[in-house]
Amino acid sequence: MKMPLQAKHLQEIIHRSNEEYYKKMVEEITDYAIFLLDPAGIIRTWNKGAERIKGYTSEEIIGQHFRIFYTPADRKKGLPEKLLQQAVTFGKTNMEGWRVRKDGTTFWANIVITALHDNTGNNIGFTKITKDLTDRKLMEDVRQLAQKNKELEQLVYITSHDLQEPLSSITGFANILEQYYKGQLDEDGRKYLHYLTQSCAHMSNLIKALLDYSLIGRERKLERVDCNQLVSEVTGNLYHAIHENSAKIIVGELPKLDANFIELELLFQNLIGNAIKFRKKDISPEITIKASKRNDVWEFSIHDNGIGIDEKFQEKIFNIFQRLHNKSEFEGTGIGLAHCKKIVSLYGGNIWVESTPGEGSTFHFTLPCD
Ligand code: ADP
Repeated sequence: MKMPLQAKHLQEIIHRSNEEYYKKMVEEITDYAIFLLDPAGIIRTWNKGAERIKGYTSEEIIGQHFRIFYTPADRKKGLPEKLLQQAVTFGKTNMEGWRVRKDGTTFWANIVITALHDNTGNNIGFTKITKDLTDRKLMEDVRQLAQKNKELEQLVYITSHDLQEPLSSITGFANILEQYYKGQLDEDGRKYLHYLTQSCAHMSNLIKALLDYSLIGRERKLERVDCNQLVSEVTGNLYHAIHENSAKIIVGELPKLDANFIELELLFQNLIGNAIKFRKKDISPEITIKASKRNDVWEFSIHDNGIGIDEKFQEKIFNIFQRLHNKSEFEGTGIGLAHCKKIVSLYGGNIWVESTPGEGSTFHFTLPCD
């Protein structure tokens, strides 16, 4: 039966307005970037979500190849082209990965590309739907990192704890040799025994340092800490080093904050102790300790007139067991600054050094204000 002309016209209007509705609906969506690609991957449509997530207006982006959203490494691997091939082969493809916005920043994208076909089955292009999941990804990464850190710390604790026992038997036997059999050894034998006991003592210090490191932050009680009083206790603990080196310590007005006293004591003691230890031979150490408020943190600085640190080591020294000198030059295990870094990061702060070799160093660290 032939449709009356009026009805046909009406159906056409409905059909056209449906198309308009669909177009409008897709255009107005802001949560998802939704757009069409032609079979070669050229962008043909653009919606508000795409503009929000990727930062381009439709005038800027329509007509460009969609590889523009991919990182140089992914482009080199031919990832955009591979995704289109997969969509053609399987009808659809999806993945998650870092993509690039117009301003060069990256976001974590969840994408679905669906191949479109005409009535005869020819590929006529693709729809691409992208969701920005950066917040979720970052939260997941932080959670995973925290978990990995916890596992590592547990491992350090267990190994350092378990290493103590065999080491103490070795030390015990070395002591027996020293006490009862030394007389039966020739000069070489006595020399080797001396090295053995020395190495045992060194290893015991390292293991103890590792164990202490793994224990930092395990049981934390926060209290009101007056940093002026704390620094005066620390200088008391360091009395011998200060006295022997005729060190002068100038302390500015320091704040009170909520913190764990023992952690801050260890932090200041390591930094002030280093400022005295890494002194120049010809001048006595002069150390200035200050604090100032910057936005919402206290920035502390400990300045010395010591040997200084070459720029290329200024980050490395905060790693565990990283030392720039051997034990005969300066005593130490190389864990002090790793302790400092761990303590400061427990408070969400930073620690860094500015230094000129031969002139001195300033260690800075931040702790939160109330
Ligand atoms: P340690 O003092 O046991 O060697 P640290 O972790 O405290 O270990 O320091 C690591 C290295 O950083 C030191 O061996 C030294 O080379 C360098 N360093 C630390 N503090 C200073 C300082 N105030 N002046 C010069 N060098 C320093």
